[in-house]
Amino acid sequence: MRIAIVGGGIGGLAAALFLRQAGLDATVYEQAAELREGGAGVVVSPNSDMVREFVGWDGRLQQLIAAATDTKRWALYDRSPLERWTSGRISLLGDAAHAMLPFFGQGASQSIEDAAVLAACRRNAGPDSAAQALLRYEAVRRPRASQVQLMSRGREARNHLPDGPEQQQRGSQLARGDPLRDSAWLYGHDPDSALAAQ
Ligand SMILES: Cc1cc2nc3c(=O)[nH]c(=O)nc-3n(C[C@H](O)[C@H](O)[C@H](O)COP(=O)(O)OP(=O)(O)OC[C@H]3O[C@@H](n4cnc5c(N)ncnc54)[C@H](O)[C@@H]3O)c2cc1C
Repeated sequence: MRIAIVGGGIGGLAAALFLRQAGLDATVYEQAAELREGGAGVVVSPNSDMVREFVGWDGRLQQLIAAATDTKRWALYDRSPLERWTSGRISLLGDAAHAMLPFFGQGASQSIEDAAVLAACRRNAGPDSAAQALLRYEAVRRPRASQVQLMSRGREARNHLPDGPEQQQRGSQLARGDPLRDSAWLYGHDPDSALAAQ
């Protein structure tokens, strides 16, 4: 059984590593000839643009911006959850399956979770059941990754509320809560247990 992984990004490389650890051979096909900085639509912008955007903010922030030697802008894109990731012996993982906004810092993390579950499903399957292994992988991963996608999209508005009662209410909720414990389902997730429970 030969496994082809198209794309040597975080998801593809993590999948190759997990598969190799499981004793399976995987070849990574990467289109880029060399490593370089990623990001959609990276534009190098002068610090003065940023200074203008933060006029009236805390002086310490202004100092921080003034001290930066190099500033960049990234375009942020996400996609809505897909209805399926798998067709026969082909499946998606990482951003190709669930590109998301960065507000929970979960893009790469979800890709690595994908890779771990994919390798475990493949390891536990017989040589002729690649398609079933991929369907099982999708059944475990798609609901969780879709939830994180939608949650990250929701945070765009919540993180950028204009000053006012809604923003103050959010601020006091954050001050009262314990962000890590409240998000234990996200940050304390164990892909092996999720697979075992499926
Ligand atoms: C500025 C920035 C900050 C981020 N910060 C965080 C963070 O703090 N935490 C976090 O979890 N995530 C973060 N992310 C998101 C994270 O980088 C992505 O979610 C992650 O890289 C997705 O991994 P991937 O392997 O799916 O895709 P990618 O890393 O994009 O890799 C895809 C690879 O496929 C290759 N490829 C594309 N088409 C083909 C083809 N036809 N044939 C062969 N190869 C092909 C590309 O060249 C690329 O190497 C950040 C992203 C950006 C841009």
